[in-house]
Amino acid sequence: MVPSPFMEKQTGQPFWMKLEIGQDTGAFKLRGATNAIRALGDVPGVVCCSTGNHGRAVAHAATRAGLRAVVCMSRLVPEAKVARIRAMGAEVVIEGRSQDDAQKAADRLVRDEGLAEIPPFDHPAVIAGQGTIGLEMLENQPDLSTLIIPLSGGGLAAGVAIAARSLNPDIRLIGVTMQNGAAMAASITAGQPVEVEEVASLADSLGGGIGLDNRHSFAICRALLDEVVLVTEAEIRDGMQALYYEDALVAEGASAVAHAALLAGKITVTGPTGTILTGRNLDMSMFTRLMVGEDVMLGDKVLKGRIYGT
Ligand SMILES: *Cc1c(COP(=O)(O)O)cnc(C)c1O
Repeated sequence: MVPSPFMEKQTGQPFWMKLEIGQDTGAFKLRGATNAIRALGDVPGVVCCSTGNHGRAVAHAATRAGLRAVVCMSRLVPEAKVARIRAMGAEVVIEGRSQDDAQKAADRLVRDEGLAEIPPFDHPAVIAGQGTIGLEMLENQPDLSTLIIPLSGGGLAAGVAIAARSLNPDIRLIGVTMQNGAAMAASITAGQPVEVEEVASLADSLGGGIGLDNRHSFAICRALLDEVVLVTEAEIRDGMQALYYEDALVAEGASAVAHAALLAGKITVTGPTGTILTGRNLDMSMFTRLMVGEDVMLGDKVLKGRIYGT
């Protein structure tokens, strides 16, 4: 973890950042994937459907364990993403035109070839792996009184929450996600897993559903998170710019949601605070345009450019 003097000045409290942007695959998901793969018995290989940070993590962890890794994706996935997953040592199976079609290909590989599916968040070994972040943060800084955790499917938040609460029952745990298309936030409000429409976001790693048949991460997040805070795209952009200009760190929108919420005054903290910079796998041309204050397109919407603090 590293301190942020800038955020300490903004919040009036010591502020710590856990740099998961330094992981081999550029994101924390290596922890959960590695733990889940190590817990497997004798299998001929593993399969997953993610083309993002989870897909990279599974490819990397499986290859390192000497296992075959297959990543299933639809024909709509851009060639650059396909190439990157292949370069990490995974086989790519392309099927159909949707995530559901890709999932069918994965189901078939599980059934016919005995591959083990490694899910991105709703799995005890994945949650436990992500939870090691919470253990390390409190080992480094036992006086942390608030953790602000980027939230999507909730594997990260569930694992970190279990670890942190078991070390400090009084710790305040806040999940932060984007205002539009946040399935976990909507599900917690509804009291059960619900689907939301996916929309383009600077925090693209926080997109996607939690699964209507969610078995683990929803219940844990609902029970252990004290609050869930939502941030807008402009606030996420401000958070990314604060990280870049004030702390000289390049991080994904998903990594900047704690900064976004604090700088927007949506969270007030009363003691030493920590957050997790979860990943840095960015479209760098988009990132550059954001940092110099240019307008960018998010789906069919324009996010007006601005430079933080001006
Ligand atoms: C997956 C991911 C998250 C969210 O983790 P969940 O376990 O799905 O809540 C946050 N940031 C990055 C960079 C991610 O890849």
